[in-house]
Amino acid sequence: MAKRELIKNARSVAKPFRVTDGKKFRLKDFDPGDTLQFGSEDKPRAKEALANGVEILAEQQDMLYAQDRWGVLLIFQAMDAAGKDGTIKHVMSGINPQGCQVYSFKSPSAEDLDHDFLWRCMKCLPERGRIGIFNRSYYEETLVVRVHREFLAKQTLPPELVTKHIWEERFQDIRSVERYLTRNGILVRKFFLHVSKKEQKRRFLERLDNPEKNWKFSANDIKERAFWGDYMSAYEEMIQETASKAAPWYVVPADNKWFTRIVVAAAVIDALASLDLHYPKVSAEKLKELAAARQVLEKE
Ligand code: ATP
Ligand code: MG
Repeated sequence: MAKRELIKNARSVAKPFRVTDGKKFRLKDFDPGDTLQFGSEDKPRAKEALANGVEILAEQQDMLYAQDRWGVLLIFQAMDAAGKDGTIKHVMSGINPQGCQVYSFKSPSAEDLDHDFLWRCMKCLPERGRIGIFNRSYYEETLVVRVHREFLAKQTLPPELVTKHIWEERFQDIRSVERYLTRNGILVRKFFLHVSKKEQKRRFLERLDNPEKNWKFSANDIKERAFWGDYMSAYEEMIQETASKAAPWYVVPADNKWFTRIVVAAAVIDALASLDLHYPKVSAEKLKELAAARQVLEKE
Protein backbone atom coordinates (compact mmCIF):
# COMPACT_ATOMS: atom_id res chain seq x y z
CA MET A 1 0.00 0.00 0.00
CA ALA A 2 1.23 3.49 -0.82
CA LYS A 3 2.44 5.53 2.10
CA ARG A 4 -0.17 8.19 1.58
CA GLU A 5 -2.90 5.57 1.70
CA LEU A 6 -1.48 4.14 4.95
CA ILE A 7 -1.46 7.59 6.53
CA LYS A 8 -5.06 8.10 5.45
CA ASN A 9 -6.01 4.77 6.99
CA ALA A 10 -4.21 5.69 10.19
CA ARG A 11 -6.28 8.85 10.41
CA SER A 12 -9.57 6.98 10.06
CA VAL A 13 -8.57 4.36 12.67
CA ALA A 14 -7.57 6.98 15.25
CA LYS A 15 -10.36 9.47 14.68
CA PRO A 16 -13.25 7.72 16.48
CA PHE A 17 -11.21 7.74 19.69
CA ARG A 18 -10.01 11.34 19.54
CA VAL A 19 -11.54 13.89 21.89
CA THR A 20 -10.84 17.53 21.01
CA ASP A 21 -13.68 19.12 22.92
CA GLY A 22 -14.49 17.85 26.38
CA LYS A 23 -17.87 19.49 26.78
CA LYS A 24 -19.91 16.52 25.66
CA PHE A 25 -17.43 13.85 26.67
CA ARG A 26 -18.82 10.94 28.68
CA LEU A 27 -16.64 7.96 29.46
CA LYS A 28 -19.60 5.60 29.19
CA ASP A 29 -19.85 6.39 25.47
CA PHE A 30 -16.50 4.65 24.97
CA ASP A 31 -16.33 0.85 25.09
CA PRO A 32 -13.03 -0.63 26.37
CA GLY A 33 -13.74 -3.71 24.23
CA ASP A 34 -14.25 -1.78 20.98
CA THR A 35 -12.27 -3.05 17.97
CA LEU A 36 -14.11 -1.06 15.27
CA GLN A 37 -14.95 -3.35 12.37
CA PHE A 38 -12.10 -5.75 13.16
CA GLY A 39 -12.77 -9.13 14.76
CA SER A 40 -10.26 -11.34 16.53
CA GLU A 41 -9.84 -13.19 13.19
CA ASP A 42 -8.22 -9.96 11.96
CA LYS A 43 -5.45 -10.22 14.55
CA PRO A 44 -2.81 -11.47 12.09
CA ARG A 45 -3.66 -8.63 9.70
CA ALA A 46 -3.55 -6.23 12.61
CA LYS A 47 -0.02 -7.38 13.35
CA GLU A 48 0.97 -6.66 9.78
CA ALA A 49 -0.72 -3.26 9.91
CA LEU A 50 1.18 -2.45 13.10
CA ALA A 51 4.46 -3.48 11.47
CA ASN A 52 3.70 -1.18 8.51
CA GLY A 53 2.76 1.56 10.93
CA VAL A 54 5.97 1.17 12.89
CA GLU A 55 7.92 1.51 9.64
CA ILE A 56 6.15 4.74 8.71
CA LEU A 57 6.71 6.06 12.21
CA ALA A 58 10.41 5.33 11.95
CA GLU A 59 10.60 7.32 8.70
CA GLN A 60 8.64 10.22 10.15
CA GLN A 61 10.80 10.26 13.23
CA ASP A 62 13.95 10.30 11.11
CA MET A 63 12.70 13.44 9.35
CA LEU A 64 11.60 14.99 12.64
CA TYR A 65 15.14 14.50 13.94
CA ALA A 66 16.85 15.75 10.76
CA GLN A 67 14.61 18.79 10.55
CA ASP A 68 15.08 19.64 14.22
CA ARG A 69 12.14 22.06 14.37
CA TRP A 70 9.26 20.27 16.06
CA GLY A 71 9.19 18.23 19.24
CA VAL A 72 6.52 15.69 20.13
CA LEU A 73 5.21 14.88 23.61
CA LEU A 74 3.14 11.71 24.02
CA ILE A 75 1.44 11.27 27.38
CA PHE A 76 0.13 7.92 28.59
CA GLN A 77 -2.31 7.55 31.46
CA ALA A 78 -4.20 4.45 32.57
CA MET A 79 -5.26 2.20 35.39
CA ASP A 80 -2.81 -0.57 36.31
CA ALA A 81 -2.45 -3.41 33.82
CA ALA A 82 -4.06 -1.43 31.01
CA GLY A 83 -0.93 -2.01 28.94
CA LYS A 84 0.97 1.27 28.95
CA ASP A 85 4.40 -0.36 29.00
CA GLY A 86 3.63 -2.89 26.27
CA THR A 87 2.04 -0.27 24.05
CA ILE A 88 4.99 2.08 24.36
CA LYS A 89 7.37 -0.80 23.66
CA HIS A 90 5.55 -2.02 20.55
CA VAL A 91 4.58 1.29 18.99
CA MET A 92 8.05 2.78 19.41
CA SER A 93 9.91 -0.42 18.48
CA GLY A 94 11.14 0.85 15.11
CA ILE A 95 12.32 4.21 16.31
CA ASN A 96 15.94 5.23 16.61
CA PRO A 97 16.54 5.25 20.39
CA GLN A 98 18.48 8.51 20.03
CA GLY A 99 15.34 10.26 18.86
CA CYS A 100 13.07 9.10 21.63
CA GLN A 101 13.06 9.63 25.40
CA VAL A 102 10.76 7.76 27.79
CA TYR A 103 10.14 8.96 31.35
CA SER A 104 8.06 7.16 33.98
CA PHE A 105 6.55 9.22 36.76
CA LYS A 106 5.96 7.21 39.90
CA SER A 107 5.40 8.36 43.47
CA PRO A 108 7.10 11.73 43.85
CA SER A 109 10.40 12.02 45.71
CA ALA A 110 11.04 14.43 48.59
CA GLU A 111 12.73 16.74 46.10
CA ASP A 112 9.72 16.57 43.76
CA LEU A 113 7.37 17.36 46.63
CA ASP A 114 9.41 20.42 47.48
CA HIS A 115 8.50 21.95 44.12
CA ASP A 116 5.44 23.05 42.18
CA PHE A 117 3.48 20.16 40.74
CA LEU A 118 4.63 20.56 37.14
CA TRP A 119 8.32 20.79 37.97
CA ARG A 120 9.43 17.18 37.67
CA CYS A 121 7.70 16.77 34.31
CA MET A 122 8.91 20.08 32.90
CA LYS A 123 12.49 18.92 33.43
CA CYS A 124 11.83 16.04 31.06
CA LEU A 125 10.22 17.82 28.12
CA PRO A 126 11.43 16.68 24.70
CA GLU A 127 13.90 18.76 22.74
CA ARG A 128 13.15 19.74 19.16
CA GLY A 129 13.61 16.81 16.84
CA ARG A 130 12.69 14.30 19.56
CA ILE A 131 9.70 12.31 20.65
CA GLY A 132 9.26 12.43 24.42
CA ILE A 133 7.06 9.88 26.13
CA PHE A 134 5.57 10.35 29.57
CA ASN A 135 4.51 7.07 31.17
CA ARG A 136 2.16 8.75 33.65
CA SER A 137 2.58 12.50 33.99
CA TYR A 138 1.40 15.68 35.68
CA TYR A 139 -2.11 14.34 35.07
CA GLU A 140 -1.58 12.13 38.15
CA GLU A 141 -2.02 15.41 40.03
CA THR A 142 -5.69 15.33 39.07
CA LEU A 143 -6.07 11.55 39.42
CA VAL A 144 -4.28 9.70 42.23
CA VAL A 145 -3.82 12.92 44.20
CA ARG A 146 -7.51 13.66 43.86
CA VAL A 147 -8.62 10.14 44.78
CA HIS A 148 -6.23 10.06 47.77
CA ARG A 149 -6.23 13.50 49.34
CA GLU A 150 -3.42 12.52 51.71
CA PHE A 151 -1.03 12.93 48.76
CA LEU A 152 -2.07 16.56 48.46
CA ALA A 153 -1.25 17.10 52.13
CA LYS A 154 2.27 15.82 51.47
CA GLN A 155 2.81 18.56 48.91
CA THR A 156 3.12 21.11 51.75
CA LEU A 157 1.42 23.87 49.80
CA PRO A 158 0.63 27.09 51.67
CA PRO A 159 -2.73 26.20 53.27
CA GLU A 160 -4.55 29.27 51.95
CA LEU A 161 -3.87 28.04 48.40
CA VAL A 162 -5.58 24.71 48.97
CA THR A 163 -9.24 25.49 48.42
CA LYS A 164 -12.14 23.66 46.83
CA HIS A 165 -11.03 25.20 43.53
CA ILE A 166 -7.70 23.41 43.49
CA TRP A 167 -8.64 20.83 40.82
CA GLU A 168 -10.13 23.43 38.51
CA GLU A 169 -6.98 25.49 39.02
CA ARG A 170 -4.80 22.53 38.13
CA PHE A 171 -6.82 21.93 34.97
CA GLN A 172 -6.36 25.59 34.07
CA ASP A 173 -2.63 25.37 34.63
CA ILE A 174 -2.38 22.21 32.56
CA ARG A 175 -4.38 23.75 29.72
CA SER A 176 -2.09 26.77 29.80
CA VAL A 177 1.10 24.78 29.78
CA GLU A 178 -0.09 22.60 26.90
CA ARG A 179 -1.06 25.69 24.91
CA TYR A 180 2.34 27.15 25.67
CA LEU A 181 4.08 24.00 24.45
CA THR A 182 1.98 23.91 21.29
CA ARG A 183 2.85 27.52 20.53
CA ASN A 184 6.49 26.60 20.93
CA GLY A 185 6.38 23.82 18.39
CA ILE A 186 5.99 20.94 20.82
CA LEU A 187 3.11 18.81 19.64
CA VAL A 188 1.12 17.27 22.51
CA ARG A 189 -0.95 14.09 22.21
CA LYS A 190 -2.51 12.31 25.21
CA PHE A 191 -3.63 8.72 25.53
CA PHE A 192 -5.95 7.24 28.09
CA LEU A 193 -5.76 3.47 27.76
CA HIS A 194 -9.28 2.57 28.71
CA VAL A 195 -9.42 -0.93 30.23
CA SER A 196 -12.53 -2.44 31.82
CA LYS A 197 -12.63 -3.50 35.46
CA LYS A 198 -13.34 -7.05 34.34
CA GLU A 199 -10.31 -7.21 32.04
CA GLN A 200 -8.09 -5.71 34.75
CA LYS A 201 -9.12 -8.55 37.06
CA ARG A 202 -8.27 -11.09 34.36
CA ARG A 203 -4.82 -9.55 33.87
CA PHE A 204 -4.13 -9.39 37.62
CA LEU A 205 -5.03 -13.07 37.93
CA GLU A 206 -2.70 -13.82 35.04
CA ARG A 207 0.09 -11.98 36.84
CA LEU A 208 -0.58 -14.09 39.93
CA ASP A 209 -0.79 -17.37 38.01
CA ASN A 210 2.23 -16.92 35.78
CA PRO A 211 5.60 -16.96 37.61
CA GLU A 212 7.15 -14.88 34.83
CA LYS A 213 4.55 -12.19 35.43
CA ASN A 214 4.62 -12.30 39.25
CA TRP A 215 7.09 -9.41 39.36
CA LYS A 216 4.55 -7.14 37.70
CA PHE A 217 2.07 -7.61 40.51
CA SER A 218 2.01 -5.20 43.41
CA ALA A 219 -0.31 -5.50 46.40
CA ASN A 220 -1.06 -1.83 45.97
CA ASP A 221 -2.73 -2.59 42.63
CA ILE A 222 -5.57 -4.38 44.42
CA LYS A 223 -5.97 -1.46 46.81
CA GLU A 224 -6.28 1.00 43.95
CA ARG A 225 -8.81 -1.25 42.20
CA ALA A 226 -11.15 -0.67 45.15
CA PHE A 227 -11.27 3.00 44.12
CA TRP A 228 -12.29 2.20 40.53
CA GLY A 229 -15.37 4.43 40.55
CA ASP A 230 -13.48 7.41 41.95
CA TYR A 231 -10.77 6.97 39.35
CA MET A 232 -13.25 6.78 36.48
CA SER A 233 -14.90 10.03 37.63
CA ALA A 234 -11.49 11.67 37.89
CA TYR A 235 -10.49 10.44 34.42
CA GLU A 236 -13.76 11.62 32.93
CA GLU A 237 -13.42 15.10 34.36
CA MET A 238 -9.74 15.27 33.42
CA ILE A 239 -10.64 14.61 29.77
CA GLN A 240 -13.60 16.98 29.85
CA GLU A 241 -11.38 19.74 31.19
CA THR A 242 -8.21 19.26 29.19
CA ALA A 243 -9.16 17.91 25.75
CA SER A 244 -8.47 20.51 23.09
CA LYS A 245 -7.92 20.71 19.35
CA ALA A 246 -4.24 21.41 19.85
CA ALA A 247 -3.75 18.78 22.56
CA PRO A 248 -6.40 16.09 22.10
CA TRP A 249 -7.01 13.06 24.27
CA TYR A 250 -7.37 9.64 22.70
CA VAL A 251 -9.61 7.32 24.68
CA VAL A 252 -8.09 4.07 23.49
CA PRO A 253 -9.98 0.80 23.99
CA ALA A 254 -7.60 -1.32 26.05
CA ASP A 255 -9.30 -4.68 26.57
CA ASN A 256 -7.59 -6.05 23.45
CA LYS A 257 -3.90 -5.29 23.38
CA TRP A 258 -3.51 -5.80 19.64
CA PHE A 259 -6.14 -3.14 19.03
CA THR A 260 -4.75 -0.70 21.60
CA ARG A 261 -1.41 -0.74 19.81
CA ILE A 262 -2.97 -0.16 16.40
CA VAL A 263 -4.94 2.86 17.62
CA VAL A 264 -1.97 4.45 19.39
CA ALA A 265 0.33 3.89 16.39
CA ALA A 266 -2.33 5.34 14.09
CA ALA A 267 -2.76 8.42 16.26
CA VAL A 268 0.99 9.08 16.41
CA ILE A 269 1.33 8.65 12.64
CA ASP A 270 -1.57 11.04 12.13
CA ALA A 271 0.00 13.56 14.50
CA LEU A 272 3.38 13.45 12.77
CA ALA A 273 1.72 13.64 9.35
CA SER A 274 0.12 16.92 10.43
CA LEU A 275 3.60 18.49 10.61
CA ASP A 276 5.38 19.61 7.46
CA LEU A 277 8.13 17.05 7.95
CA HIS A 278 10.81 16.88 5.31
CA TYR A 279 14.56 16.47 5.22
CA PRO A 280 16.36 19.82 5.42
CA LYS A 281 16.97 21.39 2.00
CA VAL A 282 20.64 21.58 1.19
CA SER A 283 21.92 25.11 0.47
CA ALA A 284 23.86 26.04 -2.70
CA GLU A 285 26.95 26.47 -0.59
CA LYS A 286 26.54 23.01 0.93
CA LEU A 287 26.03 21.53 -2.56
CA LYS A 288 29.39 23.02 -3.59
CA GLU A 289 30.97 21.48 -0.53
CA LEU A 290 29.51 18.07 -1.41
CA ALA A 291 30.78 18.34 -5.01
CA ALA A 292 34.26 19.22 -3.75
CA ALA A 293 34.22 16.27 -1.36
CA ARG A 294 33.26 13.97 -4.23
CA GLN A 295 36.22 15.25 -6.27
CA VAL A 296 38.63 14.61 -3.43
CA LEU A 297 37.35 11.05 -3.00
CA GLU A 298 37.40 10.30 -6.71
CA LYS A 299 40.98 11.51 -7.02
CA GLU A 300 42.20 9.04 -4.38
P1 ATP B 1 3.29 -0.73 36.18
O1 ATP B 1 2.29 -0.58 35.06
O2 ATP B 1 4.49 -1.51 35.80
O3 ATP B 1 2.66 -1.13 37.47
P2 ATP B 1 3.24 1.90 37.15
O4 ATP B 1 3.31 3.12 36.28
O5 ATP B 1 1.90 1.53 37.68
O6 ATP B 1 3.87 0.74 36.35
P3 ATP B 1 4.10 1.75 39.82
O7 ATP B 1 5.43 1.85 40.47
O8 ATP B 1 3.31 0.52 39.99
O9 ATP B 1 4.28 2.09 38.29
O10 ATP B 1 3.18 2.93 40.31
C1 ATP B 1 3.46 4.22 40.28
C2 ATP B 1 2.51 4.84 41.26
O11 ATP B 1 2.89 6.18 41.47
C3 ATP B 1 1.08 4.85 40.74
O12 ATP B 1 0.22 4.26 41.68
C4 ATP B 1 0.77 6.31 40.59
O13 ATP B 1 -0.56 6.62 40.84
C5 ATP B 1 1.73 6.92 41.59
N1 ATP B 1 1.99 8.32 41.31
C6 ATP B 1 2.37 8.86 40.14
N2 ATP B 1 2.42 10.21 40.23
C7 ATP B 1 2.06 10.53 41.48
C8 ATP B 1 1.90 11.75 42.20
N3 ATP B 1 2.14 12.92 41.60
N4 ATP B 1 1.53 11.68 43.48
C9 ATP B 1 1.28 10.50 44.07
N5 ATP B 1 1.40 9.31 43.45
C10 ATP B 1 1.78 9.31 42.19
MG1 MG C 1 1.59 -0.17 38.92
